[in-house]
Amino acid sequence: MSEIKDNLKQVQKRIAAAAKRAGRDSDEIKLVAVTKTRGIEEIKEVIEADVVDLGESRVQELRDKYDNISQKINWHMIGHLQRNKVKYIMRMERCNLIHSMDSMRLAKKINKRAGMADRVMNVLVQINVAGDENKFGLEPEETIDYLRKVAEFENLQVKGLMTMVPYVDDTEQVRPYFRELKELFEEVKRAEIPNIEMQELSMGITNDFEVAIEEGATIVRVGSAIFGPREY
Ligand SMILES: *Cc1c(COP(=O)(O)O)cnc(C)c1O
Repeated sequence: MSEIKDNLKQVQKRIAAAAKRAGRDSDEIKLVAVTKTRGIEEIKEVIEADVVDLGESRVQELRDKYDNISQKINWHMIGHLQRNKVKYIMRMERCNLIHSMDSMRLAKKINKRAGMADRVMNVLVQINVAGDENKFGLEPEETIDYLRKVAEFENLQVKGLMTMVPYVDDTEQVRPYFRELKELFEEVKRAEIPNIEMQELSMGITNDFEVAIEEGATIVRVGSAIFGPREY
């Protein structure tokens, strides 16, 4: 078996084990293979192993790969999205989840461009639970008000929340952030805001996906553990 396929198997096993520890069904957890910086040959390896969810963090790279990979992939836009790039996302029919809606201006732009493309775009709202200056996202306290406004936008559909937490060696240090996002997720559910769905909790990367699953992640975004360390 190729190294990438073998790595993928290991990640899938670790996902299943983390789910089991948390008393969860591993079918509840979707693995998005993060393909940034990876070539088509590497990506084909995971597609051959039946991965159907791929994530990219930059629009240009997503467009290039989108055009070169014809398989039925669900493309996920996971990185910070500039407003002037939103139009390119809308042209990609198989890109159907933006994980990183992180401001009102971006929400307005997504709604407008989705309307022009005659589609309803699925989005997650990125929350900066760690209050990290280097990371994008709303403050947890702003979330409910933000969602009440965004709920009125007809061409976007909020499906849940996403976060990026600081990189740490001891992942127990980030467990409280994941827990806080899960609590916010439940709080939003209780608020029962019309048109706002709380189905997906996108949290956890190579460094910390097991802790994220133990704390309730429904989507993990894993790159290096599958493809090896990234070289820029
Ligand atoms: C790169 C990236 C990941 C994956 O990171 P790995 O450490 O390679 O697993 C996940 N989420 C986002 C938003 C990223 O940009």
